[in-house]
Amino acid sequence: MVQISNNVNFNGVSPKNLMDATYKAVENFQIRAFFEAKNDILSVGKLSEEEFYEILDAMIDAETERKLVLESLKGKEPLFLEEIAKILKEFPRENVIRDVIYLKEQGYIEEHIEIKTKTVIKKIKGEEKKVEEKEYFYRYQVKDLPDDFIEHFFEPVSIVFDSEVCCQCGWCSSICPVNAITVTADILEIDDETCMKCGICYSVCPKSFSIEQAGRSINKLDKSLKFSEKINGYINTYSASTTKDDIKKVRQDGGVVTSILQYLLENKLVDAIVAVQHSEEKWKPEPVIVDDLKDLYKTGGTKYANASTLAIIDKAKKYDKIAVVGTPCIMNAIEKGTLFPSGLPFFKNIKYRIGLFCMESFPYEGVLNLIKEQFQKDFNKVTKMDISGGKFIIYLDSGEDLRVPLKEVKSYARHNCHYCEDLTADFADISVGSIGSPSGWSSVITRTKIGEKIYKEAIKAGLIESKSLKEVKPGQPLLERIAGIKRKNCKPIKLEKE
Ligand SMILES: Cc1cc2nc3c(=O)[nH]c(=O)nc-3n(C[C@H](O)[C@H](O)[C@H](O)COP(=O)(O)OP(=O)(O)OC[C@H]3O[C@@H](n4cnc5c(N)ncnc54)[C@H](O)[C@@H]3O)c2cc1C
Ligand code: SF4
Ligand code: SF4
Ligand code: SF4
Repeated sequence: MVQISNNVNFNGVSPKNLMDATYKAVENFQIRAFFEAKNDILSVGKLSEEEFYEILDAMIDAETERKLVLESLKGKEPLFLEEIAKILKEFPRENVIRDVIYLKEQGYIEEHIEIKTKTVIKKIKGEEKKVEEKEYFYRYQVKDLPDDFIEHFFEPVSIVFDSEVCCQCGWCSSICPVNAITVTADILEIDDETCMKCGICYSVCPKSFSIEQAGRSINKLDKSLKFSEKINGYINTYSASTTKDDIKKVRQDGGVVTSILQYLLENKLVDAIVAVQHSEEKWKPEPVIVDDLKDLYKTGGTKYANASTLAIIDKAKKYDKIAVVGTPCIMNAIEKGTLFPSGLPFFKNIKYRIGLFCMESFPYEGVLNLIKEQFQKDFNKVTKMDISGGKFIIYLDSGEDLRVPLKEVKSYARHNCHYCEDLTADFADISVGSIGSPSGWSSVITRTKIGEKIYKEAIKAGLIESKSLKEVKPGQPLLERIAGIKRKNCKPIKLEKE
């Protein structure tokens, strides 16, 4: 008998229904492709036999649960995700929400979007004005399907790259069981000869189908969280700065990220950290695994070019406990891998996720061109780059700083960042950025109990000084406003085959 995902057995599901669902589950194209490729997978040596079966079990469990959820939803009117989770009491709520999103992607469920307009009072240039705001309501219902309906199967992620929405996070390449995917900051290539069409890469890719609705609904069900449509679920918001002079020398803003990482390493809460440092080519970020405190400060400071941080996650498999630092798309990828547990052996050692706020990133060539064309400067002379107060700023080794309006540099940003709605790393344990806090301080959002715990401990250890974000200006209202603008301007993703 199957043991269902997250080690939760079903209560109230009859053995017959469970058996039927299991039979249907093992007919799933992805599961069969994975099972039939067992020898090829093991010959690559990335997965042990035990890990292979761990993934297979997880896939069958999750698919079985989806078949049961589907049966229970047949004939029901369109419902909100939270309503569905409350009705289907025999399954864990989080699972039901993620299952509905997945079933939609498999073609069984339809999403109904209702748009309402409401009038709100906003202060614009000091004056109170009535403004119309759109609100979106998402409900889900099982489709009326023909008898010959064939479940959609998941494509390899070349479809994501070819549709120009790939954020180059590298998650798919770490997770692919046969190493068929190569990802760098600019390219993604799939070796068609090696790929066995298991679709695992698609199910964990942050850009294949969105988990934002699922994330919001899961957060809303957790009554211990505060919730904002703009910055999503959180425990607390702070403004903070490091107390360590050595960190002040390398930090981007408050040095909070490096301070938290130092706390985790010093106290052996992690064995290693996956972060980003300068590569041999200055300003080109290089993902690194740091397992020694002496190397940590090399990671301080923001590199505005994108990095394929998760492409090295499989190299960190030998560590029991790791922390990962990254932009919101990196946090989203990890969360998606957690919701859809086919990649278990690669991510279960990720214990802490430190997210960075991110409006956009730039291709490395874009950063170089930007420095040359907008500032007429040699990038080797640039000691720091920053985005603050609507300006892109460079600091030079001469002590000079130069700035141009942010709108002048938008054209250098990566095209695929236009398809990203998340400014504040919704899926991190702790999110950190500059918006909202004064210079030399960072805005911090603690989102999970574990995130709040280590943040408080780092303060207690004397690494960070912290106050409520409510106590500083411009504070949370500006952060929420900019996060709202990013969500509003985000383009919808449409995946198209070349
Ligand atoms: C591409 C990018 C865009 C950003 N855009 C915004 C923004 O619009 N608004 C805002 O408020 N904040 C933004 N940030 C976050 C901000 O720049 C700081 O990283 C954040 O405030 C933390 O500062 P700190 O002093 O605590 O970090 P530090 O202690 O200096 O640590 C910085 C950490 O960032 C990591 N890092 C550096 N570059 C990268 C990269 N390219 N990819 C992944 N990780 C990286 C390093 O590994 C290091 O751990 C952005 C960050 C990045 C990487
Ligand atoms: S997992 Fe990341 S790198 Fe791979 S296709 Fe998706 S967005 Fe691109
Ligand atoms: S590329 Fe994707 S579909 Fe192909 S084997 Fe790897 S994970 Fe499976
Ligand atoms: S804007 Fe989004 S997709 Fe682009 S780097 Fe930032 S988090 Fe990733």
